Amino acid sequence: MAGRFAPTPTSDLHLGNLRTALLAWVMARSTGRGFIVRIEDLDQARVKAAPGVAQRQLDDLAALGIDWDGDVLWQSQRFDLYRQYAATLDTYECFCSRAEIAAASQAPHGDYRPYPGTCAKLTRAQRAARRGEGRAPAIRVRAGGAFMTVHDVHAGDVTGAVDDFVLIRGDGTPAYNLAVVVDDGLQAVDQVVRGADLLTSAPRQAWLATQLGFPVPTFAHVGLAVNSSGVRLAKRDGAVTLRALREQGFEATDVLGLITDSLGWPRIGANELVDAARHQPLLDAPAVWAPWVVTRPAS
Ligand code: GLU
Repeated sequence: MAGRFAPTPTSDLHLGNLRTALLAWVMARSTGRGFIVRIEDLDQARVKAAPGVAQRQLDDLAALGIDWDGDVLWQSQRFDLYRQYAATLDTYECFCSRAEIAAASQAPHGDYRPYPGTCAKLTRAQRAARRGEGRAPAIRVRAGGAFMTVHDVHAGDVTGAVDDFVLIRGDGTPAYNLAVVVDDGLQAVDQVVRGADLLTSAPRQAWLATQLGFPVPTFAHVGLAVNSSGVRLAKRDGAVTLRALREQGFEATDVLGLITDSLGWPRIGANELVDAARHQPLLDAPAVWAPWVVTRPAS
């Protein structure tokens, strides 16, 4: 069984992403699991607008001493596979625009607006009429108002409503929730460590895993990196990537030091890397699960 890190290659990994990767690696390696890296390059338009990012992400992981097993998996090479899995499910075509869904849905849960089911009962004639208007349908799974409970190492049991979420976008691109579940299932991932922003997606994904006959992984959603205003860390926050910090004279081990400091772990030595077995007991540190307020990392 394995743990994994699955970056989207649209921008360089920032300190928060690197910290999540390190934690995923420590949790997997210290429990005798394999560790895989998967490039989630589904959104080809955005990926092509940021050439070279995936390779830099891999280089950054390696520079921090994070190793992985086997070949890196690229989701862009598996679109047909994801579509085949979608085809085994009870689905329907959805012609709604984002604006229509926003207008029809109730108060949003965080950023996520559960789909209100507008297209769930369209007749064949209504579907043909909408296609005639030039609308390309997305494919949604029929979840039937399900609820699903997942176990998160820190948050405990988390129950969420499962809406009729999108499996295939209107342009034919498989959706993140589908690809991530198929790949975690096929790659024998039984431990999902990632940023706390994805905790609310876990019940939906776990439900889909059971529908597709895959076991549900254990989850560990770790603290996100935020800036001094409490907003999720981004490029505009200055030198927050390994590359940018290196340009300011920092070494990879200095960056590891910033990360281990943020976790409340003792400083590692100048030429040392994080040791999964030795650091495992430190995973209980409260800072692992709390937001990391990154204040001027380069000063
Ligand atoms: N590719 C997603 C991201 O970069 C992570 C997916 C996951 O870990 O489940 O945010």
